[in-house]
Amino acid sequence: MQQAPQETGWIEVICGGMFSGKTEELIRRMRRAEIAKQNIVLFKPRMDDRYATDFVISHDKRVIEAVSVDEAKQIEVLAKNYDVVGIDEVQFFGPEIVEVCEYLANKGKRVIVSGLDQDYLGQPFDPMPTLLCVAEYITKELAICVVCGNPADRTQRIIDEQERVVIGGNEFYEARCRKCFKPGILTKAEIEDDY
Ligand code: ZN
Repeated sequence: MQQAPQETGWIEVICGGMFSGKTEELIRRMRRAEIAKQNIVLFKPRMDDRYATDFVISHDKRVIEAVSVDEAKQIEVLAKNYDVVGIDEVQFFGPEIVEVCEYLANKGKRVIVSGLDQDYLGQPFDPMPTLLCVAEYITKELAICVVCGNPADRTQRIIDEQERVVIGGNEFYEARCRKCFKPGILTKAEIEDDY
C-alpha cells in the first residue's frame, strides 16, 4: 500500500487456497496495527473450530484473539468501537458479508478479510468474487504444490466427500498447482498415482 486513504475506510482482501499463508498475513497486518496503537478486533465464523473457540491460530501456530460470530450482521454492531476490523475465513459468512464490509469501510474503518477464493472444485467461492470487486486492495497468496513444487493456488480435496464445506486440515486437503489439480473427488489409487 503506497499511501493509506485519508478520512475514509477501505477494504483489503487476502485470498488464496489452503496452506497459502492467508491467515498468517491477516494476523501480521492486525499485529502491526495493534503495535501502532490502533484498536483492532478480529472476527471468525463460529463453525470453524478446528483449534480453539476464541482464538485464530494460523498453521504456523501464531495466535490472535478472535470473536466467533454466527452471522455477518453481528459484526456491524460488535465492530463499532474499533479502527481496524479483521475477518478470517470470510467465505463462510455468505453474501451478506459484502454489505457488512462496505458498511464498516464507509464508517471509516480499515477492513481486512482473509478467505478461500476457490472451492474444492476450483470454482469461485461466493462471496469472494464480489468482495474482490469492492475491495481497494487485493493480495493473492500462493502455496506450494505438494505434487510438483510449483506455486499453488488450488486446494485438492483428498477425501470422498461432496459437501462444499468440509472443515479440516492436511488430512483432507492439499495445495496443488493448475497442472496437478483435479477437480472433484480422487480415489485412493488416483492420489497414489499422482506421486
Ligand atoms: Zn503441481
